[in-house]
Amino acid sequence: MSQQLPSELMSIPENTRVAVVTGASSGIGAATARALAAAGFHVIAGARRRDRVEELAREIGGTALPLDVTDEASVAEFTRAIPRADVLVNNAGGAKGLETVADADLDKWRWMWETNVLGTLRMTQALLPKLIDSGDGLIVTVTSIAALETYPGGAGYTSAKHAQGVLHRTLRDELLGKPVRLTEIAPGAVETEFSTVRFGGDEKQAAKVYQGFTPLTASDVAEVISFVATRPSHVNIDQVLLKPRAQAGPGKFHREPS
Ligand code: NAP
Repeated sequence: MSQQLPSELMSIPENTRVAVVTGASSGIGAATARALAAAGFHVIAGARRRDRVEELAREIGGTALPLDVTDEASVAEFTRAIPRADVLVNNAGGAKGLETVADADLDKWRWMWETNVLGTLRMTQALLPKLIDSGDGLIVTVTSIAALETYPGGAGYTSAKHAQGVLHRTLRDELLGKPVRLTEIAPGAVETEFSTVRFGGDEKQAAKVYQGFTPLTASDVAEVISFVATRPSHVNIDQVLLKPRAQAGPGKFHREPS
């Protein structure tokens, strides 16, 4: 169904850069929307939980639009509403389950691939013409250390994040000569709703993931994204890997006894 276009999108001052953040209803996406707004961007925040992005947009003076990155019609409608875009943050994503390959749940794998990989593909395809037209576009893709390493029980997520990372890194070559920069952000453990989603809403199991050490916060990651987005246009930060001090790799934590 066609939506009413938010009027503020038609009156963004010409010298204000526009940043699109997917998965802005919580965690890293919400913090990134706040950080980019503080850095002077007009932020267009997309996610399925419309009430959350609307509240965020009111707070930061941005625009909220409903978005399901797994749904082509939703991505088309979202993109149609956007007059121009300088920055795309492909952040929407997550994990479901921690089953071994032998016990893999195909529906959870489909969710992870649809959201992280095909979601990034859909959003990038849809906004690329506008990013190129901006004359100084930037695509930030939030992958993970799971895009670079593997761990037992993680194959559904690590395979999706590897694929998302490969898609993103391929663009670095394909867009050479075009005015678009590309940055992959690969965080380790960040305390967000990520683990609650992974464990199907089980808050207790989710809390255990972050026990005994200080994880990254969503703002820690958002500050890096804001730094990347405010570099001069000839500077391309290809990849940033950031982890808590107490994490050496996926599943490798130094935990203090509680
Ligand atoms: P989070 O708090 O669960 O946020 C995930 C966001 O993705 C939510 O805003 C959610 O919004 C959105 N999303 C999920 N499915 C979507 C869909 N189909 N369409 C649009 N939006 C969708 O988790 P987070 O930690 O901030 O995760 C953000 C990104 O960081 C993810 O790509 C994740 O894989 C990555 N990452 C997280 C960690 C970590 O430890 N937390 C580490 C490395 C990488 P709605 O549900 O409202 O749609």
